[in-house]
Amino acid sequence: MMNLYAINHKFHYELENLTRAFFPNEKIAVVSCEVAPCELQAPYILTEYKEDMRVSVSFDGFERSLSEEKGEDDELSMATLLYRLLCEYTGVTLSWGLLTGVRPIKLFRKLRGDLGEEGAREYFARKLLVSDQKTDLACITCKNEQKILDLSSDKSFSLYISIPFCPTRCSYCSFVSQSVEKARHLIPDYVRLICQEISITGDIARNLGLKLETVYMGGGTPTTLSADDLSVILKAVTDNFDMSMCREFTVEAGRPDTITEDKLRALYDGGCDRLSVNPQTLSDEVLRNIGRRHTVQEFFDSFSLARKIGFGHINTDLIAGLPGDTPESFMRTIDGICGLSPESVTIHTLSMKRSSRLTGDNMQILREDTDSVSRMLTYGYNKLNECGLAPYYLYRQSKMLGNMENTGWSKKGFEGLYNVYIMDETHTILACGAGAVTKMRDTSSDRIERIFNFKYPYEYNARFEELMKRKDAIEEFYANL
Ligand code: SF4
Repeated sequence: MMNLYAINHKFHYELENLTRAFFPNEKIAVVSCEVAPCELQAPYILTEYKEDMRVSVSFDGFERSLSEEKGEDDELSMATLLYRLLCEYTGVTLSWGLLTGVRPIKLFRKLRGDLGEEGAREYFARKLLVSDQKTDLACITCKNEQKILDLSSDKSFSLYISIPFCPTRCSYCSFVSQSVEKARHLIPDYVRLICQEISITGDIARNLGLKLETVYMGGGTPTTLSADDLSVILKAVTDNFDMSMCREFTVEAGRPDTITEDKLRALYDGGCDRLSVNPQTLSDEVLRNIGRRHTVQEFFDSFSLARKIGFGHINTDLIAGLPGDTPESFMRTIDGICGLSPESVTIHTLSMKRSSRLTGDNMQILREDTDSVSRMLTYGYNKLNECGLAPYYLYRQSKMLGNMENTGWSKKGFEGLYNVYIMDETHTILACGAGAVTKMRDTSSDRIERIFNFKYPYEYNARFEELMKRKDAIEEFYANL
């Protein structure tokens, strides 16, 4: 465990996040006080805000200290001192520099509004120490995203449908999803009740005069359900919402081992016009490592089946940094995906699972992992660019390998609109199903209120009536605008 001493200041939240970006799995205890304790427990970071600012570190024989006079933005200055020390100790430079937030594009857009594009670029590069490559990525993503944000109006909303079942659990997954082997008995009631929730939500949207922009059915793996169940749920959507202005209807077919011709037909006939088929990798060995019980060939078969049925927008999700994957095999994955010419591709970076505690050996692992995932992403982005795809949304999560990012790429006109709206929090998302979160957005003040559905399908089924009462908050929210 590492101690982070914050002496006489309140910058500890940012400093803790920055430390975590270097040491994702290290436990960090924040000790906040006015005067430094007499005895400091190593390994530690001591940050002091007195006549000047000082940051000292003591890790495994590495003792170093940096200081600076107080100035205009002392929180940023102190983070910069800490960043320099952590770079020196680890031998790793983070390509997003001091930026630890999940929505760097939102920040870039705000800076662009305040300082102009050049000013925003300069702030990223000079103040936040973001690499040129990531500054370029933020800039182009921001421009492409803007066109999508402009489509949304004050009355706009998107609909999210949660199907929290999967055939089996992937080893890297932290999502609250139920393996269907254990939860199959819950499905009939779940399907019946989610259709009721869709109907109730449709009434609310109609009463409020809201305008449906996009529908996203995710999970989990929605295609774990039968073709009949999928048809029933899609029909509930199209029967209960005004689809006339809806720009996109996505279903995550997710795992190829759940895809059959009759399910794809049910989705296509039911109104889905954007399908996500997700191999994550085109290496059978890596698929085995992560506990996905399908082969690369099954992915190719599912993809061509979807094309045969008529889907004109297929997205594929990939993950950089999976266990056992190498830059070379990731490059083969990218080449294979580009060979299929999907309309959009999302590249995620794996959240860090390997230890990166403060020992010399682990610093070597950290450097290797960061270098490896950076090569994967650089190759992937260049190749997608060559194939005519451009980045249109980007977000980050905690503990990502190398503190990198997830990025959505698409051919022109095939951006995944819902992805942008949910990540940017552009407009209200009305959500149905277990684990779903309704987010109501007041566009005039940026205020957001949330309604949480029960996480697990058994709770959702058992306490449905109670849950539906929570929906009253939607009309109350809009009444108070
Ligand atoms: S398919 Fe997706 S949601 Fe389901 S277990 Fe795997 S990673 Fe998690």
